[in-house]
Amino acid sequence: EIKINNVYKSFKSLDPSKEDTLALNGVDLKIEPGSFVSLIGPSGCGKSTLLRIIGGLDKATSGELFLDGNKIIKPGSDRGFAFQGSNLFPWLTVEKNIAFGLKARHIYKKEKEEVQKFVDLVGLKGFEKSYPHQLSGGMQQRASLARALVGHPSVLLLDEPLGALDAFTRMTLQDEILKIWKQNNMTMLMVTHDVDEAIYMSDKVVVMSSRPSKVEEIIDIDLPRPRARSQD
Ligand code: ATP
Ligand code: MG
Repeated sequence: EIKINNVYKSFKSLDPSKEDTLALNGVDLKIEPGSFVSLIGPSGCGKSTLLRIIGGLDKATSGELFLDGNKIIKPGSDRGFAFQGSNLFPWLTVEKNIAFGLKARHIYKKEKEEVQKFVDLVGLKGFEKSYPHQLSGGMQQRASLARALVGHPSVLLLDEPLGALDAFTRMTLQDEILKIWKQNNMTMLMVTHDVDEAIYMSDKVVVMSSRPSKVEEIIDIDLPRPRARSQD
């Protein structure tokens, strides 16, 4: 369970004549274990900031965050993170990029086997030695998904993982993410700009507002997932 209590985050302005940016303005949220939650809201409302703080990559200015009752203060092997935009290291091969996901979580055993398992899982067999620029956009997204998954995190934080993909690749990857989620009993928090995607994939859609940057509405989704169902 993820619990977020009254979280504020302000960024200092470099220009002293300007006010600081209040990126999060009292965010409260509770996420049930094993649920799939999508986070939507206008550009700049603080979605990435919230995800980074839950990931332990950034600190809240005030407020508290808990994961299964423990305070979140830094990154941990319990959380996998896929950043917004193209985020693979361009100078590392697919397998080295995925291995980085293990090292970042201080996991040093069975590196080769683990990396191979996730290469296979996301369908990148044969591309282990390729560099990101040699892959299509969809393959790059698969590789960064593998890097987020490789330490078997119980929570996966995905920041627009399917942005800038063609409709077909997007649909395929949506179903693959759903399959991985179900098989591994993970808690998912995914930022997306695509409302249909949010409704299709999630149990709950969290809508954030900007000014003030906080949770505006939580919508329960109670629809079957037709495409994913047919794959079960
Ligand atoms: P988008 O949908 O465009 O990705 P977002 O909801 O993810 O937007 P954030 O990236 O969380 O928005 O940014 C929220 C606010 O915080 C914005 O006003 C942004 O300019 C500001 N901000 C984010 N990161 C920093 C930073 N490192 N330094 C200063 N300001 C920042
Ligand atoms: Mg963002």
